[in-house]
Amino acid sequence: MKKEQHQCEGKVFGDYYSHRCRNNASYERDDKWYCKRHDPVSIKEKEAKSEAKYNKWLKEDRERTRRRTAEIAYCKDLTTEELESKSNKI
Ligand SMILES: [Zn+2]
Repeated sequence: MKKEQHQCEGKVFGDYYSHRCRNNASYERDDKWYCKRHDPVSIKEKEAKSEAKYNKWLKEDRERTRRRTAEIAYCKDLTTEELESKSNKI
Protein backbone atom coordinates (compact mmCIF):
# COMPACT_ATOMS: atom_id res chain seq x y z
CA MET A 1 0.00 0.00 0.00
CA LYS A 2 1.35 3.38 -0.99
CA LYS A 3 1.66 5.90 1.79
CA GLU A 4 -0.50 8.96 1.21
CA GLN A 5 1.54 11.99 0.29
CA HIS A 6 0.65 15.43 1.52
CA GLN A 7 1.95 18.71 0.29
CA CYS A 8 3.09 21.29 2.81
CA GLU A 9 0.68 24.16 3.50
CA GLY A 10 3.52 26.49 4.28
CA LYS A 11 4.39 29.53 2.22
CA VAL A 12 7.77 30.29 0.79
CA PHE A 13 8.49 33.98 0.63
CA GLY A 14 10.60 35.08 -2.26
CA ASP A 15 11.98 38.51 -3.02
CA TYR A 16 9.14 39.42 -5.36
CA TYR A 17 6.50 36.79 -4.84
CA SER A 18 5.60 33.97 -2.53
CA HIS A 19 4.42 30.53 -3.41
CA ARG A 20 3.24 27.45 -1.70
CA CYS A 21 5.91 25.18 -0.31
CA ARG A 22 6.57 22.23 -2.61
CA ASN A 23 7.94 19.94 0.05
CA ASN A 24 6.19 16.76 1.02
CA ALA A 25 4.56 17.23 4.39
CA SER A 26 5.15 14.89 7.26
CA TYR A 27 3.58 16.74 10.17
CA GLU A 28 -0.16 17.00 10.61
CA ARG A 29 -1.42 19.94 12.67
CA ASP A 30 -5.14 20.72 12.86
CA ASP A 31 -5.91 18.80 9.66
CA LYS A 32 -3.21 20.66 7.80
CA TRP A 33 0.07 19.21 6.71
CA TYR A 34 3.47 20.76 6.93
CA CYS A 35 7.03 19.89 6.13
CA LYS A 36 9.69 20.10 8.84
CA ARG A 37 10.52 23.68 7.95
CA HIS A 38 6.94 24.94 8.09
CA ASP A 39 5.64 22.87 10.96
CA PRO A 40 4.05 25.48 13.31
CA VAL A 41 5.12 23.54 16.38
CA SER A 42 8.80 23.47 15.44
CA ILE A 43 8.59 27.11 14.32
CA LYS A 44 7.27 28.02 17.76
CA GLU A 45 10.02 26.01 19.41
CA LYS A 46 12.60 27.80 17.32
CA GLU A 47 11.09 31.17 18.20
CA ALA A 48 11.12 30.30 21.89
CA LYS A 49 14.76 29.28 21.62
CA SER A 50 15.83 32.46 19.88
CA GLU A 51 13.79 34.52 22.33
CA ALA A 52 15.57 32.85 25.25
CA LYS A 53 18.89 33.52 23.55
CA TYR A 54 17.94 37.16 23.02
CA ASN A 55 16.81 37.56 26.63
CA LYS A 56 20.10 36.09 27.82
CA TRP A 57 22.02 38.51 25.64
CA LEU A 58 19.85 41.39 26.89
CA LYS A 59 20.57 40.47 30.50
CA GLU A 60 24.29 40.24 29.85
CA ASP A 61 24.22 43.52 27.98
CA ARG A 62 22.40 45.22 30.86
CA GLU A 63 25.00 43.82 33.25
CA ARG A 64 27.83 45.14 31.06
CA THR A 65 26.24 48.59 30.98
CA ARG A 66 25.77 48.52 34.77
CA ARG A 67 29.42 47.58 35.23
CA ARG A 68 30.59 50.25 32.81
CA THR A 69 28.48 52.91 34.52
CA ALA A 70 29.90 51.95 37.91
CA GLU A 71 33.45 52.01 36.52
CA ILE A 72 32.97 55.44 35.02
CA ALA A 73 31.46 56.77 38.25
CA TYR A 74 34.35 55.32 40.27
CA CYS A 75 37.01 56.65 37.93
CA LYS A 76 35.64 60.06 37.10
CA ASP A 77 37.37 61.88 39.98
CA LEU A 78 40.69 60.10 39.49
CA THR A 79 43.43 61.37 37.25
CA THR A 80 44.90 59.01 34.71
CA GLU A 81 48.07 58.80 36.84
CA GLU A 82 46.08 57.81 39.92
CA LEU A 83 44.22 55.23 37.89
CA GLU A 84 47.47 53.82 36.52
CA SER A 85 49.06 53.61 39.94
CA LYS A 86 46.00 51.74 41.21
CA SER A 87 46.04 49.21 38.42
CA ASN A 88 49.81 48.72 38.78
CA LYS A 89 49.31 47.50 42.33
CA ILE A 90 47.21 44.55 41.19
ZN1 LIG B 1 6.97 23.51 3.80
